[in-house]
Amino acid sequence: MLDKRIGWQFDNTYSSLPESMLSKLSPTPVKAPEIVIFNDSLSKKLGLDFSKISKKELASIFSGNQLPIGSESIAQAYAGHQFGHFTILGDGRALMIGEHITKDNKRYDLQFKGSGKTPYSRNADGRAALGPMLREYIISEAMHGLKVPTTRSLAVVKTGENIIREENLDGAILTRVASSHIRVGTFQYALISNNKNDLKSLFNYTIKRHYPEILKSKTAAVDLLKIVYEKQMSLISEWMRVGFVHGVMNTDNMTISGETIDYGPCAFMDTYSPDTVFSSIDLHGRYAYFNQPAITKWNLERFAESLLPLIDDNREKAIKSATEIMSTFPNRYKKVWITMMKNKLGIIGDDPDDESLISELLSWMHLNKIDYTNTFCFLMDELLIGKEIYSNKQFLSWKKKWAQRRLIGNTIEGSISLMRKSNPLFIPRNHIVEDALKFATELNDLTKVKQFLLACENPYEKKTHIMQYQKVPKPTNKKYQTYCGT
Ligand code: AMP
Ligand code: MG
Repeated sequence: MLDKRIGWQFDNTYSSLPESMLSKLSPTPVKAPEIVIFNDSLSKKLGLDFSKISKKELASIFSGNQLPIGSESIAQAYAGHQFGHFTILGDGRALMIGEHITKDNKRYDLQFKGSGKTPYSRNADGRAALGPMLREYIISEAMHGLKVPTTRSLAVVKTGENIIREENLDGAILTRVASSHIRVGTFQYALISNNKNDLKSLFNYTIKRHYPEILKSKTAAVDLLKIVYEKQMSLISEWMRVGFVHGVMNTDNMTISGETIDYGPCAFMDTYSPDTVFSSIDLHGRYAYFNQPAITKWNLERFAESLLPLIDDNREKAIKSATEIMSTFPNRYKKVWITMMKNKLGIIGDDPDDESLISELLSWMHLNKIDYTNTFCFLMDELLIGKEIYSNKQFLSWKKKWAQRRLIGNTIEGSISLMRKSNPLFIPRNHIVEDALKFATELNDLTKVKQFLLACENPYEKKTHIMQYQKVPKPTNKKYQTYCGT
């Protein structure tokens, strides 16, 4: 009955994988669920209709108290290199409730985050707090608006229970929508399984689900490595484009689909600084802004290692072909990055001085602590506030060179149109997100969150009210810090 009204189309293909890859269990019921925010437009995109459902029922569904018919909830097993150290992990506070298939035959995982303990929880409580779940909702939806591949957020529900962190906090559950939750770490887990077939099963499942075009290939394992390499490389270049620092690029947080996943200690950079780190535990800058491409390569190498038994029965040969592929990464990435930066500057074609033109601007921003996003807005003549700094002599001399270069092989209109597609007019700045979250969590007032989310639907579109989001934070000695596992 419920299903007909809503339009769920559940399938549970992941459960067909070997037993060791997952645990079947139900969400732990919660006391008094209450909807905090619900994503109507995503729900429509999924072909779901909750208009005939009461608020109470909606909260009951998205807290896991009442699972949709056809849903078989599971926690997925995976492993991962956390800050370089290999660990066995798994969904410790998340449950996949199943795969929903849309009318146009697209398959999405629906996952609850914060839904209680699982066999993989170790000593932790399996729960999540309202602030961080709302933060994931905001940042993931903002990333979608920024046109960066990402998992999405469908709902946040308050559980009506307290969770204990440094203080008592409201417990909450986020519903995450992903094209799948298969990670590099899932392959690492299958590789070390006692059952030799687990890796092959996961591999077959993954290509059937994501890359059916290589199903018949005789070199499917090498093909998969190459595809994931391209996906991850282009994803990370997108992060670099918008100044995003993921913060915890462990191999368990890197998807095979190429979507950004796990918005924990992530944040956006304001003033340009390559060594920007926000995470409180990233003491050595392993996951700093400018280290993200090198870490992507490192993570892809772990993926390649997991695929070795499938690449060739002869280990030496397998290593040789994986190494050959991975050795191309630095040059390939550099090309992708230069093209991305040239798009941001509205320049086309190749000129031997392009790289130094880009570097000169970045160095100027770095040395003078200039805002990254706003600089490109200024160059597009779309910066509404804080323009004084751009009368700097050094900047003006760079700008003159840029103004000449952008007209080589292009018109002003062509250049601007390229820039407008590559440069958002604003990003989810930390002080703005924090302020909106404070209102939501302390005053139960979602106005700011909703207003900001509305703007984030299209951060490339010129609207008068965006001025408030171009405001840079007041200078302070205190570093903005984010925390894991909250
Ligand atoms: P993350 O840093 O969010 O990628 O999480 C790393 C691992 O810790 C994952 O296996 C999570 O499921 C687990 N984890 C994080 N927070 C909790 C929690 N509160 N309870 C149980 N497991 C958790
Ligand atoms: Mg994770």
